[in-house]
Amino acid sequence: LAKDNGRNTYAFYTQALTQHARERIALESSLHQAISGRQLRVYYQPQVDLGTGHIIGLEALVRWQHPEHGLLTPDRFLPVAVNAGLMISIDEYVLNQACQQMQRWLAAGFDLQHMAVNMSGSWLERGQVVDSVKQALARNGLHAQYLELELTETEAMRHSELNMERLDSLRHLGISLAIDDFGTGYSSLMRLKRLPVNRLKIDRDFVRDLPHDQNDAAIARAIIALGQSLQMELIAEGVETVEQAELLTAMGCTNAQGYLYSRPVPAAEIEPLLQHVGSTEE
Ligand code: C2E
Ligand code: MG
Ligand code: MG
Ligand code: MG
Repeated sequence: LAKDNGRNTYAFYTQALTQHARERIALESSLHQAISGRQLRVYYQPQVDLGTGHIIGLEALVRWQHPEHGLLTPDRFLPVAVNAGLMISIDEYVLNQACQQMQRWLAAGFDLQHMAVNMSGSWLERGQVVDSVKQALARNGLHAQYLELELTETEAMRHSELNMERLDSLRHLGISLAIDDFGTGYSSLMRLKRLPVNRLKIDRDFVRDLPHDQNDAAIARAIIALGQSLQMELIAEGVETVEQAELLTAMGCTNAQGYLYSRPVPAAEIEPLLQHVGSTEE
């Protein structure tokens, strides 16, 4: 009986694996098409000032409007994109769309400080990132001060001297840099001190169980103290409740992003949330 059981489990397992592999292969071949065929979408999620509640910036997040599977989130297709060597194409597409959209919003008089775009490790590694950014800004007439690039802590710590030079070049263009998912990687404090970074994004892992989890509260407090002493802006990711926002504010965190304010939504749905420059309504 045990043996039978084992065999069934095994058969089930391989079947599941094969199905998973098949799905990946299918996704991989249609991803090429998705990029050229305009199936990628850029959604935007607000970042707010915890003091005033005003939107200070937006993060651009990629989606894939798949003809059969519907709207796919990054966890479904970015691993496929990495394998297929398509990550840079996706990042460049999102960068360009986000710059274009930001320039439109600024031209329309919306009061926004920055547009944040995620930068994959491969984009930084492969080296054309500085030129791509320069071109995207020029093509869309966006001033560098309005663009922020996010690099995960893991990627930020992995990089070589060459990548450090690229980050410096990006900063020299006038854009800002944020470390994404901070607290989940293995930061060398020496390296962190040398990185030309303006902002730390406290990972959602340490926000999720606030205000109840004492350990997470201690970690969040430590990250905030670290950011303050390195003169970096701090933003908490994944804020879903008023209690979380209040505790983070009390701890000295200045900005937040999360479902409490808005999920990532298409550009048209962001507009009603934005304020015009000089508008006095609260
Ligand atoms: P991330 O850059 O850390 O982005 C934040 C993620 O947390 C987003 O997931 C967002 O939808 C989600 N999120 C925000 N607020 C909340 C909240 O209150 N609760 C919960 N449960 N989740 C929240 P999303 O859009 O699925 O993106 C996942 C990851 O995929 C991103 O994490 C980023 O690492 C990557 N990604 C997305 N777009 C791009 C892109 O254009 N290029 C690159 N290289 N990576 C991207
Ligand atoms: Mg991000
Ligand atoms: Mg993040
Ligand atoms: Mg995250």
